[in-house]
Amino acid sequence: MIEFINVEKTYANKVRALQNVNFKVEQGEFVAIIGLSGAGKSTLIRCINRMHDITSGELIVDHIDVSSLRGKAVRQYRRRIGMVFQSFNLVTRSSVLKNVLVSLVPDLPVWRKISGIFSREHKLLALKALDQVGILDKAYVRVDQLSGGQQQRVALARTLAQNPDIILADEPIASLDPITSKQVMDDFKHINETMNITVLLNIHHVEIALEYADRIIGVRAGEIVFDGKATLVDDEVLQHIYGSKMEEALQTEEGALLHVR
Ligand code: ADP
Repeated sequence: MIEFINVEKTYANKVRALQNVNFKVEQGEFVAIIGLSGAGKSTLIRCINRMHDITSGELIVDHIDVSSLRGKAVRQYRRRIGMVFQSFNLVTRSSVLKNVLVSLVPDLPVWRKISGIFSREHKLLALKALDQVGILDKAYVRVDQLSGGQQQRVALARTLAQNPDIILADEPIASLDPITSKQVMDDFKHINETMNITVLLNIHHVEIALEYADRIIGVRAGEIVFDGKATLVDDEVLQHIYGSKMEEALQTEEGALLHVR
């Protein structure tokens, strides 16, 4: 489904964010990408939906050479990939339902986009997506009246309404408290298991990554230094990924050192 072949990404400022990146993800996998801040996790995720272009190598997604896409083809390609951000990226003064309907806008004629009139079919799709993440009752509430966790669920519903094959998430729980984080991760897991949608997420909470993901990809200074089952991640692997900063990396916001299997 997703294949990186010798991928390198060097930014215009000459920072080499990725090098020698090789891995393959099959449809339906749940993968967490871990590593220190600045390791290249975000770059890796963002190359997949062409928010960034790779510098060399090949990136193949569902038989498509992602670098070769131009113009309209990029937009069509992106529609198949849902993206969830740490900051939710919602229009907070609009209703939950409208925020989800926006993901369907590219399919609407221009007069509909302007008038904000959405079809019954689209409304049903949006409501179904809200139901899938357990916030159907919030459909007509303004987003700024929701908690952070609920807002992230709206973002997830907006992505789901797009009917994606892949969901990419860039630190989706970084600004949430531990309990809400788990609820959001439960949503990801549920979507992954019941809809067979591939989930790839960056996360700096190691313990949560190990609890939810089937597979862990460890990135260090732009290179993949571990790729394997979450059950195989032990202290030695974490040391390899985080190096001398391991203790710092595993420190929770409350200051307690996380228990590592
Ligand atoms: P992570 O997600 O693991 O924190 P990033 O992928 O954001 O890491 O960053 C990897 C490296 O690339 C860092 O050195 C960062 O400063 C650099 N970088 C990220 N985005 C850009 C950009 N748009 N332009 C230049 N350098 C960037």
